[in-house]
Amino acid sequence: MLKAPVSEIFCSVQGEGLYCGQKQVFLRFAGCNLSCKFCDEPAARGGDAFMEMSGAQAAMDILRLAGKNRAAAVSLTGGEPLLNWKFIKCLAPGVKKAGLALHLETNGVLYRELERIKGEVAVIAADIKLPSSTGGKAFWYEHARFFAVAPEKTFLKVVLTDSTSLADLKKAVALAAAIRPDVPFFLQPATPRPGGVRPPKGIFMKKACCWAAARLSRVKVLPQQHPIWGVK
Ligand code: SF4
Repeated sequence: MLKAPVSEIFCSVQGEGLYCGQKQVFLRFAGCNLSCKFCDEPAARGGDAFMEMSGAQAAMDILRLAGKNRAAAVSLTGGEPLLNWKFIKCLAPGVKKAGLALHLETNGVLYRELERIKGEVAVIAADIKLPSSTGGKAFWYEHARFFAVAPEKTFLKVVLTDSTSLADLKKAVALAAAIRPDVPFFLQPATPRPGGVRPPKGIFMKKACCWAAARLSRVKVLPQQHPIWGVK
């Protein structure tokens, strides 16, 4: 039986992006193919406890939590959910049959895997990883291929830190504008952490907003809400 490393399944309120404020059930996969310097998710690094779960087990937990909490959607998060695309393909029909919308939260790199499950998901929340923010390598080619798979279902998010360069932000805006200029495009100032990353200065945020809004029609600034609320 096909299993996947699941770190946790829980119900909460979405704290980022287009569906911020919506009650959702979250399935968090362990493991990620990237290593961003602002990552606040132990599950991504395999440092957290996880269990190998079958699709049937996961679906049972999801439906129970969704029914009890009247959640309308299920967010697949991580880590990187697309590392488990076969598992998602097994899980999706039961979740959809129960009337729940399936949302995918992804780092926006694994475009071949997205191709395999694009018909199963209703919403794709994809990152564009700016090399100057993540401290990692560039994924411009992969992000462009990824966004082109299902642009009508996708919204984009870029995390901005005090090391983000305007040149990187301009590239991300150009990538989005070339495919879908009315894509919801979220600028997310990094959540400050003691001894860790810091958000950009206000003047940078203003420049970033002005540049993006001149080329994309649906630009929003939205910090992560959960650290502000002090909840998961
Ligand atoms: S892609 Fe997301 S989960 Fe993976 S390392 Fe980066 S921030 Fe963490």
